[in-house]
Amino acid sequence: MPDAAAHPIADIIAHPLTQKLPTPTETSWGRYDAVSIMLVEVRTTTGLTGYGETLARFAPRAYAELVERALKPRLVGRDALNILANWALMRRALSGRAGGMLIEAIAGVDIALWDIAGKAAGLPIYRLLGGEGRASVPVYAASVSWDPLEERAAEQAIAFARRGFSSIKVKIGRSPEAACKRIATVRQAVGDGVELTADSNWAYNLDEAVMVGKALERHGYAWFEEPLRPEDEDGYRQLRARCAVPLAAGESNYAVDQAMALTCDRTLSVLQPNVTRSGGITETLAMARLAAQHDVAYAPHVGMSGIICEAASLHVAAAAANTRIMECAASANLFKSEVADLRPGGERAEGGMLSVPQGPGLGIEINWEGVARMEKMAREAA
Ligand SMILES: [Mg+2]
Repeated sequence: MPDAAAHPIADIIAHPLTQKLPTPTETSWGRYDAVSIMLVEVRTTTGLTGYGETLARFAPRAYAELVERALKPRLVGRDALNILANWALMRRALSGRAGGMLIEAIAGVDIALWDIAGKAAGLPIYRLLGGEGRASVPVYAASVSWDPLEERAAEQAIAFARRGFSSIKVKIGRSPEAACKRIATVRQAVGDGVELTADSNWAYNLDEAVMVGKALERHGYAWFEEPLRPEDEDGYRQLRARCAVPLAAGESNYAVDQAMALTCDRTLSVLQPNVTRSGGITETLAMARLAAQHDVAYAPHVGMSGIICEAASLHVAAAAANTRIMECAASANLFKSEVADLRPGGERAEGGMLSVPQGPGLGIEINWEGVARMEKMAREAA
């Protein structure tokens, strides 16, 4: 007998999107002039459509191929609401250990399935997750850029503080000496009343990270984000033993198993998965819960991702018990301003808080004109 409450999946459509950044962004990892994401659309035979986003910075058409050829044939005909079972089935699309593009592609589909579940229930996703039920989430300004001029770094930090952000992230990199100087300059510029954190995007080896970590400790920074490359777990443990600044990481992790070691032994104080990389809402919530069990805070990473990432992160953050603070990227980003009707967080944030969308599912409407413009850019960039 057919299940009257089922929402069978009819179709999955992948939309690779590319934008030329209004202002090129630079981290210790490199300079980005153009970035991509993939918008995922899942339709059911019952007339519902859910949307998701995949972190697909480069080669977004390869992600679309993965969704259309490897994930869609497995899912069509299945009930969209059996999300855990659908996740496990997608995971079996490739043999071998989990990670990389497959998990990022799954993230896009998973978020779309949660959007459908919310629309089917007439509830925002965070209510379905049955957690804390926060109506708003604290955010920090990201980021004081990598601009080598010290004065510019100080100016940017002061501007964020004037806009009401009480927590600000500072990008560091280059030589440890340069980083130590910047750490002191920005602290001096904003005073002691503002929370500061630093992100080096794995710029250092262990000895360098210890030197920078001690400067962060001296100047009262709240965390040192991605000091070392993500695979160097022993390095993270040694760094934790050698300086007191709390360590943060997680944006480079895929599935929960990659977050397990440094969370369970409490080397990390803050876990920062990106929902569009870390397997979607399902897996990101599992990471947040794992962290909660070990008194590690959850702080969603958003970075250069788009508005669906922001909305999905808000829903998980609204539900998770250990949410500390969420990243709020302040730089111009067409994936935030042009893809849906929700204004970007940098514009919406008030008093260092972002409200959680209250409509069914993710609580956003897609702006198809904006999507078409960025799909065109993705085709032209190929
Ligand atoms: Mg980071």
